[in-house]
Amino acid sequence: MAIELKIDSKVLWLTGLSGAGKTTIANKLKEKLSAFDIAIEILDGDILRMGINKDLGFSMKDRYENVRRTAEIAKILVNNGIYTLVCLISPTEEIRKMARNIIGEEKFIEVFINAPFEICKARDVKGMYKRAERGECKDFTGLDSPFEKPANPDITIDTSTDTVLQSVSKVLDFLKFNK
Ligand code: ADP
Repeated sequence: MAIELKIDSKVLWLTGLSGAGKTTIANKLKEKLSAFDIAIEILDGDILRMGINKDLGFSMKDRYENVRRTAEIAKILVNNGIYTLVCLISPTEEIRKMARNIIGEEKFIEVFINAPFEICKARDVKGMYKRAERGECKDFTGLDSPFEKPANPDITIDTSTDTVLQSVSKVLDFLKFNK
């Protein structure tokens, strides 16, 4: 007899500049979603680059491969009922389209974590903006590597105006987890 699985898990694909707030929002979202009876995993670009993606750099070709591998992992997780929060700059429409195609339209939610370049630079969470400006880090997104704003994201969050909690609430509202 077939077992009926009721799985409505999603991949939340958080795209935006370095320092826009992807990791911060994903961590807080995970904390909030933990109150519900669902499994959640975060795939964070910085962490993946220390392991499965440590052979990749920041050329456009390597960024494609970075996104492709991550999307394939996200697909396995989401198809096993795990809510998957992906934090990757994923800088172009084409790259994000590839991720959407791998994961599947009905599972993929594009979340644009929007913050102006100048704000991300002022935050400089990881000291990367200073390094990039000193020329110590090539192909830096927003500087000498492009970032195309998503044309039609499912959710847009402006972290230069919204607090972390307001940002997380917006996502929970979209997912209908906020009562
Ligand atoms: P990313 O993962 O996009 O590189 P991080 O989450 O590592 O960015 O860093 C974002 C920084 O911006 C953190 O220092 C965070 O506290 C700050 N911040 C300010 N407002 C927000 C917000 N609404 N959402 C997320 N982060 C915010």
